[in-house]
Amino acid sequence: MGDTACMGKRLSLTAYREGILRRDRVVLARALTLVESRLPADQELAQQLLDHLLPHTGRAVRIGITGVPGVGKSSFIEAFGTYLTGQGKPVAVLAVDPSSVRSRGSILGDKTRMENLARNPLAYIRPTPAGQYAGGVASYTRESLLLCEAAGFEVILVETVGVGQAETQVQGMVDFFMLLLLAGAGDELQGLKRGIMEMADMLVITKADAASQTAVQAAQTAYQNALYLFPPAASGWLPPVLTASAHERTGLEEIWQKVGEFLEKTRESGYFEQHRQQQRADWLLACLRQELESRIFAGQPAWLDALVGQVSSGQTPPRLAARQWADRLLPHS
Ligand code: GDP
Repeated sequence: MGDTACMGKRLSLTAYREGILRRDRVVLARALTLVESRLPADQELAQQLLDHLLPHTGRAVRIGITGVPGVGKSSFIEAFGTYLTGQGKPVAVLAVDPSSVRSRGSILGDKTRMENLARNPLAYIRPTPAGQYAGGVASYTRESLLLCEAAGFEVILVETVGVGQAETQVQGMVDFFMLLLLAGAGDELQGLKRGIMEMADMLVITKADAASQTAVQAAQTAYQNALYLFPPAASGWLPPVLTASAHERTGLEEIWQKVGEFLEKTRESGYFEQHRQQQRADWLLACLRQELESRIFAGQPAWLDALVGQVSSGQTPPRLAARQWADRLLPHS
């Protein structure tokens, strides 16, 4: 993938588009910055760019990877990403990691976490931009994902920490969701949010080299049994429990094979496309809500102050005040 040395201000729409389509990673990085920006002019240009690139998107396999801090996500992604590039597949990694912003400081932290993959010419790692995690994580990550697809990445790995809301958002943008776990089955199952396990298309027991084979197998059985308790997934897929060691680079091929099996089955059944359509529709609704909300509350409107005054002084119940105002703003037809 070629590079263009150009830093500084915004590029033209054509320069972004052509740079991305010729897989210029410097232009890609700048386009990702544009997508992450909150400046209205940047957002406008970013939307135009996405509109132009849309026909070039959709061809990658989108995989979400989650797990608690320390479970081995970045080591696994480094090993798995290296395995995939070894198969000739360009891989992009997007990190949705609110905690990295707080604890590690993102850019350097993430880069050093996946040093080898970061140097791999077929891979591209985009860390969480500092200070941008609140609320908007999903919207720019989804758009970043589309840019990476247009730039020819065939597998997109979206990394997130297993702590709640971010997972639901990430699940809304990927085809396949992997949950990484440690072999200490009993304790882990208790601490784990049921919802996250229910979202998973595959469980991977990490650091298989660090535990005895018996312990790994026991964990595998316990997790698999736990999965049987969930109602069948809409995809018709029963999530398997696999094992991997990032340090010894084992289990990676089996994991990729299973992902392939999932893709084949769900493409055949029509679920794959149906799922992507549903994700686009959900995204539209989320954008619509966001757009309306930002317009309604733009610039600290005086009516809002008046309304807050009425409600906080106890003159009007909050819901009634909200309804009355909404009726004035958007009368029922
Ligand atoms: P993350 O916080 O989930 O991204 O986890 P890391 O990838 O940073 O790994 C946390 C710790 O587990 C580090 O000390 C790693 O060296 C270690 N670790 C990760 N993968 C493996 C593995 O496959 N085997 C062993 N023995 N240790 C591992």
